[in-house]
Amino acid sequence: MGASEFDLIARYFAPLAAAAPGAFALTNDAALVDVPDGRSLVTTVDSMVAGVHFRDEDRPTEIAAKLLAVNLSDLAAMGARPFGYLVAASFPQTVEEAWIAEFAAGLGSEQAIFGISLLGGDTTSTTGPLTLSLTAFGHVPSGKCLQRATARAGDDIYVSGWLGDAALGLDILSGRLQASSTEARAQLVRRYLRPTPRLALGAALLEMELASAALDVSDGLVADLGHMARQSGLAAGIEWAALPLSPAARAQLARDAALRQRVLGGGDDYELVFAAAPVGRADIAKLARRLDLPLTRIGSLSPGSGVSVRDEAGRRIAVTKAGWAHF
Ligand SMILES: [Mg+2]
Repeated sequence: MGASEFDLIARYFAPLAAAAPGAFALTNDAALVDVPDGRSLVTTVDSMVAGVHFRDEDRPTEIAAKLLAVNLSDLAAMGARPFGYLVAASFPQTVEEAWIAEFAAGLGSEQAIFGISLLGGDTTSTTGPLTLSLTAFGHVPSGKCLQRATARAGDDIYVSGWLGDAALGLDILSGRLQASSTEARAQLVRRYLRPTPRLALGAALLEMELASAALDVSDGLVADLGHMARQSGLAAGIEWAALPLSPAARAQLARDAALRQRVLGGGDDYELVFAAAPVGRADIAKLARRLDLPLTRIGSLSPGSGVSVRDEAGRRIAVTKAGWAHF
């Protein structure tokens, strides 16, 4: 790679910081960040390692977009409105400048969706695998945020969007699963590669005080709901028949019912799971229409512990793998 680190930053990364005056076009040692009056800063970091969190053959634009999206999803889970991010990258000596250019382009297209800016970063070379780390910043009404440990017994459990698409998309990409159609393949794979952080939903749930607790589904529905239940000191009961499945996911499950384990245990959906008092049902239905996003009631919380899933006949479905696994 011929260009110096300074050249690369000026060429590919400084344009991503153009809308943030406090980033000084990435020419200073650090950035200045103002949070609006009456708001608290929320921050989160996530790393992705080649061969662990993405495949070597994945396109750099998609790796970049997902790296940003998964961090924004964590902000969404807290009810935060995002405004900026930092990125640190450790590149193997063999990385091409074209890879870095496409990586920056992927960050650019994702940040444009949410109107946020790069605020700074660091690049270094490594003898290990390509490693990417991103820190995202958002803000919430002063001192308030959505949390995992604050669900109450009697609350309904909701999930946004659709479950299982990303896990099925990964299975298709990995050659473990045959897609039911070309369109289904494209939809499921896209949901794996390009998750949509539910930022408008998270912010609305917090600001309208509709949710008692929330988190995002990164490790799988049962695993993540398990975190909420355990941290809230409650049991979560969900009904299989209530889970929102996309037409593409339904087509896959119609061919192989065993795939319901992927819906329950697979990760990477980046939907929000939240708990809400039953009194809020009408407001949540209204919010779903306003956001044009399904918000589906899938169960409830009660005294006790653990997560149970029941089928239409009330029989318990054992979840064989709660939690995420590498490909
Ligand atoms: Mg999370």
